[in-house]
Amino acid sequence: MRTRLVVTGRPAAGGPRPRREVFGRILGVVTELYLDHAATTVPRPEARAALSRWLEPADEPIGNPSSTHHAGQRARVAVEEAREAIALALGAHPQDVVFTSGGTEADNLAIKGFAWAGAERGRRHLVTTAVEHPAVLEPARWLAAHQGFELTVVGVDSDGRVDVEHVLDAVRGDTAVVSVMAANNELGAVNDLPTLGVALRERGVPFHTDAVQAFATRDVDADAWHVDALSLSAHKFGGPVGTGVAVLRRGVPVVPLTHGGQQDRGVRSGTLAAALDASCAAAVVAASSDRDRLHERLSALSDRLTEGLEAVDGVRRNGPTAPRHRLASHVHVSIDGVDGEALTFALDRAGLAVSAGAACGAGAQKASHVLEAAGIGGDAAVRFSLGWTSTLAEVEGAVGVFSEVVAELRAAGGGAVA
Ligand code: PLP
Repeated sequence: MRTRLVVTGRPAAGGPRPRREVFGRILGVVTELYLDHAATTVPRPEARAALSRWLEPADEPIGNPSSTHHAGQRARVAVEEAREAIALALGAHPQDVVFTSGGTEADNLAIKGFAWAGAERGRRHLVTTAVEHPAVLEPARWLAAHQGFELTVVGVDSDGRVDVEHVLDAVRGDTAVVSVMAANNELGAVNDLPTLGVALRERGVPFHTDAVQAFATRDVDADAWHVDALSLSAHKFGGPVGTGVAVLRRGVPVVPLTHGGQQDRGVRSGTLAAALDASCAAAVVAASSDRDRLHERLSALSDRLTEGLEAVDGVRRNGPTAPRHRLASHVHVSIDGVDGEALTFALDRAGLAVSAGAACGAGAQKASHVLEAAGIGGDAAVRFSLGWTSTLAEVEGAVGVFSEVVAELRAAGGGAVA
């Protein structure tokens, strides 16, 4: 069984092995420091409780919200209450809220749905940015490669931020959708959506934003941002994996990916998952209520983390420095003199879970398209990401493990693998 041990205090300097690894062996537990909350975070108690309420009664069906009997109607009420709460938290109308299986489906639905609807009116041009998550970039590329759309990919500055003017320059009379992420998953760079939203609405161009990474620590407001579509993924802010939300503004034409039961305005057919939707809503409400406090706490923790990491020779932070331009949860660093793959492997062995670039879609190490687009070099890069359970002890522990592992790899010649 894997037991979590958090060792407080600074690790011993110059010891042969990280203190927490030694302590862990003595206690017979596997020590873990989890600083990869951007990949997936710890489910919040409110989300777990909402799920258990539906899953635990052993002799009751969850109910199909489309059924007219009492079990179905109980589930229907839960889904509609969840929809209303999510809409309130996101500055949207309840009917704009479409439940999905997560961020990837929400992104695909907005990109393909707006593109296909645009094509019906002669619009076959798409605009997105070079640093989007593959859940946006790949459907856009697929539409260009297989469905006769033209795609313009806008570059970013050296912090990974998008220039509003560059996006507007790319827009044409036949643009079917513009997709610009609220915050980048690797660098944590935050974009100026309200300015872009106003300009795109004036031009009558459907605007989608991927707010998957932003939601945990930033206000996400479809109305104030003037977006027509917005994607969220519950497991990034304390909900279960396998559920998420696409906000799709009523009146903006969208062609569905799935056809069948006509659920969710016919935009996303498929039996509504009352338990998952209720749990997603509980996480949305808990995360929104906790957001200001969390933002403040994580800002202090990420400052300390940055300071500790940058104290190591040849380590520098990437992405924006101004707090309003970056997520408080993300700290991305480049490291000279070590091999990237060897570093992530050694950090994992030492019990520190972080990400080399971005975890989802990766698995094996490859050059990150985000770092390439921002022109960020260095021998290795690591993303540390904090979440609602993160503590100062974990941050101190991570700094200690990182410093020791980098020193060991350098002493061994950088740890380059053949
Ligand atoms: N968009 C962004 C910015 C992400 O970071 C991720 C996952 O990391 C996704 C979309 C995909 O979300 P999901 O894992 O819910 O499919």
